[in-house]
Amino acid sequence: MRKFARIAVYCGSSNEVDGRWLDVARAMGRCLAERRIDVVFGGGQVGLMGAVADAALAAGGRVHGVIPEKLFDLELGHRGVTELEVVQTMHQRKHRMAELSDGFVALPGGWGTLEEIFEVTTWTQLGYHHKPVGLLNAFGFYDSLLQFLSNAADERFIREPHRGMLQHAAEPAALLDGLASCSLPTFDDLARRVRP
Ligand code: AMP
Repeated sequence: MRKFARIAVYCGSSNEVDGRWLDVARAMGRCLAERRIDVVFGGGQVGLMGAVADAALAAGGRVHGVIPEKLFDLELGHRGVTELEVVQTMHQRKHRMAELSDGFVALPGGWGTLEEIFEVTTWTQLGYHHKPVGLLNAFGFYDSLLQFLSNAADERFIREPHRGMLQHAAEPAALLDGLASCSLPTFDDLARRVRP
């Protein structure tokens, strides 16, 4: 079983979503704090981002934000977190979040969330890091994406050792258990398939 010190949470920044999605984010923040896992997040107060950070802090957890200078005002940089790093670029944000974390989860979200979770998944696939990745599939939010990925694997665009790489569960505790216990593909798995 893996022990996590810090997990990055990627999630939607929209303030227009139904309140149940904010509750999902709060449940994740609490669950991480209860397990003494620090939250790494995008550093803003908007949407699910703010909700996950506030819930983790309220439950006695530690929260580390990483926000690009340009987005500080737009995403309302969260000054109440344990640590807030202001970086120059989006690439620095993503790199820093990945470097700090030993696992990754995506809560429901939009373009940014999908971009971030897929990027770290490809880094696991390619062996740039050896860290588990998962989707919090609350209320079936990611059902259609999981179906799409299953089709991509059936069509062999996703190689067989990578089919199950993205963990998923409806509840935070089950997702974190899955991240702790899942097996990860190795670079050799990939190399064996790519070499002619
Ligand atoms: P969204 O899921 O679109 O609400 O975005 C969630 C978070 O992802 C926000 O903090 C965005 O700033 C961030 N984001 C958007 N695009 C990118 C990107 N290309 N790389 C990294 N983060 C991004």
